[in-house]
Amino acid sequence: MKNGNIWVIAESNGDNLTNITTEIMSKAKELSVALEKELVVVTIGYENDSVAKEAGEYGANKVIQVNDKLLKHYTTLPFTKVVSNLIEKYDPALIMIPATTNGRDFAGRICAKNGTGLVADCHDIKLTDDKSDIKFIRPTFDGRLLSDVRISSDRMIATVGKGAFVRKIREKDNKYEIIKEDSNLTEKDVKTTFLDFKESDVDPVLQSLLNSKVIVSGGLGLEDAKNWHLVEELADAIGADVGASKPVVDLGWCKKEIQVGVTGAIVKPDVYIAIGISGAIQHINGMKDSAVIIAINNDPDAPIFKTAHYGIVADLFEFIPALTKKIKSL
Ligand SMILES: Cc1cc2nc3c(=O)[nH]c(=O)nc-3n(C[C@H](O)[C@H](O)[C@H](O)COP(=O)(O)OP(=O)(O)OC[C@H]3O[C@@H](n4cnc5c(N)ncnc54)[C@H](O)[C@@H]3O)c2cc1C
Repeated sequence: MKNGNIWVIAESNGDNLTNITTEIMSKAKELSVALEKELVVVTIGYENDSVAKEAGEYGANKVIQVNDKLLKHYTTLPFTKVVSNLIEKYDPALIMIPATTNGRDFAGRICAKNGTGLVADCHDIKLTDDKSDIKFIRPTFDGRLLSDVRISSDRMIATVGKGAFVRKIREKDNKYEIIKEDSNLTEKDVKTTFLDFKESDVDPVLQSLLNSKVIVSGGLGLEDAKNWHLVEELADAIGADVGASKPVVDLGWCKKEIQVGVTGAIVKPDVYIAIGISGAIQHINGMKDSAVIIAINNDPDAPIFKTAHYGIVADLFEFIPALTKKIKSL
């Protein structure tokens, strides 16, 4: 790994950093401390003083702020030009970028322009034991495996998805430096025109699931749509959100937004209760970071028991109604 600092290219929604940015910053901070480097956050936009300040308060040692009307909205070429110039000037070792639509577009462009290796959609980023290299952990084979990918170029780029890391608390007393840089852009650099931004409607049920503290999820063990109420009643009794495995969603027993897993929502509640779910890797990778996992399954050899902290071997049709009744009576 080369000398140089750890960078995060920030995304904002105008006045604030996005959650994914602050999540990535927490891992970048951890790496920068372990490697005795600085965490540098690059904020590019227009009238973005509050965003630069926020980056400092979330733990950046330095914030490089580029403020230009031509950068009010993300467009590929101007952002690439600005960051390429900054890379040339400051020579960072690792650049971490949110794996959002814009981030993926931008990361590929930066990687190609600068001849830098990139690992996309990382779930984790770890140092090797001797701290001489970085392990970029990402899912492969439809999420069945997590692979450890290494970058052979001196400088490294990683894109990181939402929910991979837990963001730190914002500290107004953090000491940081803001470096203001010119964009050096002219109108000629802007080859595309931003017309309009249409925010997609985030389903409130999905939103609630993603932020949930307690989730009760049901799987094919429920056998039929007419039994789905057992999951909902238990969730209702303990004030939990409802989740589901993919086949249950495919069968139309519940809304597709509540699917948990690699092709659904990645959740990290305090408590995850899996009812009649076998524990396929695609499901596990969507809930394994829950603080406490409780599984109810009538097969003692069900793979879910390898991930669960508490396992109950029982027929769900007897156990769940009795549990719900008991909880309601309390
Ligand atoms: C590309 C790809 C992406 C995928 N993405 C996802 C995803 O995001 N999320 C996801 O969930 N899956 C996903 N899958 C599907 C995944 O591989 C599994 O098929 C699925 O998770 C299995 O769902 P299940 O556990 O509900 O069903 P099953 O595997 O059929 O398990 C049912 C379980 O219920 C138990 N059971 C049966 N009767 C009872 C009873 N009376 N009491 C108690 N327990 C009982 C059984 O012992 C069994 O363990 C994906 C697959 C692929 C190929």
